[in-house]
Amino acid sequence: MAHKKLIVANWKLNNTPEQAQKFATHFLKKYVPHRNVQAVICPTYLALPELFKTFEGTGVALGAQNFWFADHGTFTGEVSAAMLTPYVDYSIVGHSDRRYTFGEDDEIIARKMAASLRNSIKPILCVGENLVQRQALQTDLVLHDQVIAALSMLTTEDLEDVTIAYEPLWAISKGDGQGEHASPREVEKAVKAIRRSGVELFGKSAADNMRILYGGSSSPDNAKAYLNLPHVDGLLVGGHSLIYEHFVQMIEIAHEIK
Ligand code: PEP
Repeated sequence: MAHKKLIVANWKLNNTPEQAQKFATHFLKKYVPHRNVQAVICPTYLALPELFKTFEGTGVALGAQNFWFADHGTFTGEVSAAMLTPYVDYSIVGHSDRRYTFGEDDEIIARKMAASLRNSIKPILCVGENLVQRQALQTDLVLHDQVIAALSMLTTEDLEDVTIAYEPLWAISKGDGQGEHASPREVEKAVKAIRRSGVELFGKSAADNMRILYGGSSSPDNAKAYLNLPHVDGLLVGGHSLIYEHFVQMIEIAHEIK
């Protein structure tokens, strides 16, 4: 089954609520909704309530960059998926910033996947090897272990709402979208490895239907090469999603893929 292409903006620690509104105003002047593309913007929490109003009825969805896995309780400083449900349709889980800067381990990530789904938010799970693992030819092994651990608390039915983003660490830019990016061949191979892990847990028919994205220095210049791959269903975009013209261009490129 062909999926809608997902083009996801991960703004990270950028764009104040005011800047987010400015982005939305410019973006919406250029953005054309397409039946075969879903645009998702993941801003700071603070921008969500206003952006929710701005994007209502436009077809643009919002996503959370992060949340905690408990719905409420003694977790000072945290925001739960339950609190985000009114505003977002998607969440990012297991991003390398969360894994390696904030020390989130496999168990936290698995619990976050379950919490997101429990609160009707579709998780986008990020997986990917670092440079050392890549050089040691351990990519498939790393992807296998990360996928199995993250999906361990889910059911086959849950899988319908799960998206996995292949995000090799060495390809994620320093914020400007100008890093080294994975070759389409490497992405194709990684996507196959991710799907094999899905088959191992949930069987072929459920895993065949799993939506898989690529993320890592993607841009209007290289988007087509990834989106043309038969099993790549979209892009997770960091640096270039901060430039509204580029984000619109990437949505248009996704729309044109047959
Ligand atoms: C990311 O951090 O998810 C990402 C893909 O960033 P960039 O596009 O800037 O490499």
